[in-house]
Amino acid sequence: MSDCILCKIAKGEIPSKTIYEDNQFKVFLDIFPGSKGHTLIIPKQHVANIFELDEETAGELFKIATKVAKGMKKVLGFEGMNIVQNNGEIAGQTIFHFHLHLIPRYKDDQVSIKWEPKEADQAVLQELRDALVEGLK
Ligand code: 5GP
Ligand code: ZN
Repeated sequence: MSDCILCKIAKGEIPSKTIYEDNQFKVFLDIFPGSKGHTLIIPKQHVANIFELDEETAGELFKIATKVAKGMKKVLGFEGMNIVQNNGEIAGQTIFHFHLHLIPRYKDDQVSIKWEPKEADQAVLQELRDALVEGLK
């Protein structure tokens, strides 16, 4: 993907404040952070979203996320963290190369990750559950 900004960051063609890198992944500070230390983790290989990501790469990526989150907590001393990963424009994705957000949470940080909980009928949930279990086969 020659015009993908995260491919360019992966290759070092666009500079980034990188905090970890190996052959497969790069971890760097978000340029427009929601909070202090907001970090992105990307696979270097271009995949647009989770639906294109293979499970093995996903597993390795989350291992790194776990390690980085712990290291960040030690240094920054935040109270909590949201891990966010947007897939598709409707879900808020603006850059179509898979990236995991690590967003440190501090008191009064004005970060907002919210949805409106709705009532759900037990029978509807059961039907949905059955369809999803079938779909996973
Ligand atoms: P999305 O909305 O697609 O989940 O997140 C894209 C993220 O990439 C945003 O949080 C945005 O601030 C960040 N971003 C956009 N351009 C750049 C850039 O050039 N460098 C870095 N480090 N982050 C970027
Ligand atoms: Zn890319």
